[in-house]
Amino acid sequence: MSTTPQNIELSCEYFPTKSEDGWEKLRIARDELKRINPVFYSCTYGAGGSTRGGTFETVRDIIEADKLPAAPHISCIGSSKEGIRELLDAYNQIGVKRLVVLRGDYPSGMVERGQFNFANELVAFIRKETGDQFFIEVAAYPEFHPQATSCEQDLENLKRKVEAGANSAITQYFYNSDAYAHFLQNCERLNIEIPVVAGVMPITNYTQLMRFSNQCGAEIPRWIRLRLEDYQDDLASLREFGVEVVAQHCERLLRIGAPGLHFYTLNRSRPTLAIVDALGLL
Ligand code: FAD
Repeated sequence: MSTTPQNIELSCEYFPTKSEDGWEKLRIARDELKRINPVFYSCTYGAGGSTRGGTFETVRDIIEADKLPAAPHISCIGSSKEGIRELLDAYNQIGVKRLVVLRGDYPSGMVERGQFNFANELVAFIRKETGDQFFIEVAAYPEFHPQATSCEQDLENLKRKVEAGANSAITQYFYNSDAYAHFLQNCERLNIEIPVVAGVMPITNYTQLMRFSNQCGAEIPRWIRLRLEDYQDDLASLREFGVEVVAQHCERLLRIGAPGLHFYTLNRSRPTLAIVDALGLL
């Protein structure tokens, strides 16, 4: 592959980990992924705020050890205004400049909603409390959010998040570049002018990918699913196929006009490095 623009921005997402072994693996992954010059690393927030401490520690470690910008994810679920105020203050003190602001998902059995219903309300609150202190990322869904009442409502929701003060959006992962092209056209129609960075999930494990995709509503095209099923017992072939498919997908996204690629790394460096290498961006 060769025709990839060189000025696109890459970023990487991690999840917080508890074990010593997990921390070590994450540090190695972060170290290796410096090769792709990420604009920032982001760190997820467990469903219902279950990883609040872990997210904070991971972000602090990235800022202190890697000297790279780190963006914590913050979600509405179970959050109070006071709790968010304290969290923003703590993040400010360790040098955080960027946030990924979400509604979040309910962990099973959890019913407590918190003081924010949807991400746009949390974005508006953060802007009201902290002005322009943070660059705010929000989520976008080229294949539409599974709970959206309609496609148009979902687009209107993105617009609400922009009007509340979001600076940029990162998409849920998807493997259908037409969905992204169509989504960008719709954003233009609705005068949604923020960058919509494409979220990219490397393919390394069939069962895990199917589980994630069922949860978040990402469609796995039939031809990819069937190939992955064939390769279930042949991990080397599955991974080789995964890199080829996802790199070609990324190349199409960049041609369509993706301003950047955000890699869901799952705390591993190799799949992302292989894709970026295939794009000619290493
Ligand atoms: P919202 O923008 O609030 O939208 C949620 C749903 O409500 C949509 O269907 C929307 O159309 C609808 N809606 C919005 N406003 C209204 C309204 N006023 N009336 C009726 N319907 C409305 N989850 C985590 O728990 N932790 C993470 O760290 C995390 N990171 C993520 C990172 C990215 C880049 C992405 C794309 C997703 C991430 N998620 C994470 C998943 C996300 O939290 C879920 O997809 C969640 O279900 C929706 O979050 P949101 O911010 O998009 O919600």
